[in-house]
Amino acid sequence: MINYLYQEQNWKTQLSDLITDPKELLQQLQLSTDQLLSGAILASEQFKLRVPRAFVEKMNVADPFDPLLLQVLPHHLELEEHAGFVTDPLGEEQANQLPGVLHKYQSRFLLTLTGACAVHCRYCFRRHFPYQENLPKNEDWINIRQYLLDHPDINEVILSGGDPLTLTNQKLALWVERLESLPQLKILRIHSRVPIVIPSRIDEELVSLLKNSRLHTILVIHSNHESEIDDYTVRQLHRLTEKQVTVLNQAVLLKGVNDSAEQLAALSYRLLDARVTPYYLHVLDKVKGAHHFDLATDSISQIYTELLARLPGYLVPKLVREIAGENNKTPLYGTPIF
Ligand SMILES: *Cc1c(COP(=O)(O)O)cnc(C)c1O
Ligand code: SF4
Repeated sequence: MINYLYQEQNWKTQLSDLITDPKELLQQLQLSTDQLLSGAILASEQFKLRVPRAFVEKMNVADPFDPLLLQVLPHHLELEEHAGFVTDPLGEEQANQLPGVLHKYQSRFLLTLTGACAVHCRYCFRRHFPYQENLPKNEDWINIRQYLLDHPDINEVILSGGDPLTLTNQKLALWVERLESLPQLKILRIHSRVPIVIPSRIDEELVSLLKNSRLHTILVIHSNHESEIDDYTVRQLHRLTEKQVTVLNQAVLLKGVNDSAEQLAALSYRLLDARVTPYYLHVLDKVKGAHHFDLATDSISQIYTELLARLPGYLVPKLVREIAGENNKTPLYGTPIF
């Protein structure tokens, strides 16, 4: 958009001033057609529109196919039913051990401290997940601690979402301190889309919290397109990488958003500018309402093969799918040689 009014604004102010009205979003982008609007209003009844103004500033005006807009604008196609697209594609409701806890993978353990996200991504596999019933309260720490002690194989805790960086630094610090008190834990990982949609979230307190922890701290950001990473975002990410915090990126392969080797390669190079390592490229989870982002297996394989040819190995994200009940994310490219 024209001027950056919001990007450097305090992140809490931004979080309390999200765009949630489809009409306002479309007007800001000069896209007030009745068809887009009525579809957006209907689809937002199932999963609300939610987008920070700093992210809208990264979109092109008057472009209904802007790749950032497509990820957040509710669309009438979400209301279609499609075989195989279900509300809980990963069977997470089963894997729930304690409030807020998902332990599916041997050495790592997922902790959800909040159900809130700064942005609602239309393709999200958790769009139907009943978060609110399932968050740990302060007193649940005793049970979580006991669970970790009973599973000494766990050496990494992943704060996931909702989006953990919507929490205050104070609340994060409290949980980091609790986790640090367990010698078995070596790594603290945070999965968040906030550094992309509200880059000012990477503030001094957060940087020092991550830098000073006894644990190895890893931030996994979630960016799907190079236009999401403007110069300000790059500078903010540098604040972490220059303090030796490891920053990785995961993306989702989305029809209409980043479905070409050219786009994905551009994203990888942009991540390199920000000193962020491409980690995963997920194929879409078959969640109800996201069918219009789905790509045929043939095109996925074609895109990825071309991506491998274009990029040095260290810039190629691993193509994976998450399959309910598997012990790890399933790699989709190449076969083991033994
Ligand atoms: C993806 C995921 C992890 C972490 O997997 P990595 O392959 O280590 O990135 C852990 N727990 C759950 C439930 C996950 O979905
Ligand atoms: S959990 Fe992540 S992908 Fe899903 S809506 Fe929140 S920010 Fe988007």
